[in-house]
Amino acid sequence: MHNPFQHMRYYLCLALAVSLAHTAGAQQFGGNRPSLKWRQVDSDTVRVIFPAGLEGQGKRVSDVIHNIARSHTATLGANVRKVDIILQHETMQSNGFVQLGPFRSVFYLTPPPNSTDLGSLNWADQLALHEYRHVIQNNNFRKGVSKAGYYVFGELGQAALTNIAVPNWFWEGDAVVAETALSEQGRGRLPSFSMASVRFPWPGSNTAICRSVTDRSANTCPTTTRPVTS
Ligand SMILES: [Zn+2]
Repeated sequence: MHNPFQHMRYYLCLALAVSLAHTAGAQQFGGNRPSLKWRQVDSDTVRVIFPAGLEGQGKRVSDVIHNIARSHTATLGANVRKVDIILQHETMQSNGFVQLGPFRSVFYLTPPPNSTDLGSLNWADQLALHEYRHVIQNNNFRKGVSKAGYYVFGELGQAALTNIAVPNWFWEGDAVVAETALSEQGRGRLPSFSMASVRFPWPGSNTAICRSVTDRSANTCPTTTRPVTS
């Protein structure tokens, strides 16, 4: 017997297949235009990768990081492992992060629109000071159980175990102290950041970083490198 819905099913399946094929074809890996040309400043300490035209900022970031790696790692440990840093200049966010698996950092170069969050530092300098502290942390936290996790599960194993062992307030607080100590400003000297710190005193800053659905509060955290930095 003829099923009136048979053709409808066929056309629905065909429409679904076409729409999925379109979705697959529309993926953008890395979010950058394929026509973008990339350059790098490479050394034994850091490889800074950036779009053509940003040579000045790429060299500047490399110089700042070499200075930190040469003179300012002693408080956490002297291990210096080479890291890749990618400068992204077509973002709407002002932020940066460091991640393992693979070991890399990404700087979103668009500065914060609010000068009370930005302060007087050059934004790329601020990112280099803050994010490279996270690089130093990762370089020197590979010990004990975290080292065993690294040997068994690779960098992602190390990341999982160090994030259990080391609380968020230390990762971020230590990096904010570093950016403040190594510059003439940093968020340790920004009143807008201090105000947020009063709202989220130690060790409650996990609430500020991870957010909370039960502790409803205004988002007074500076948007700079805080919420998604790792
Ligand atoms: Zn951070």
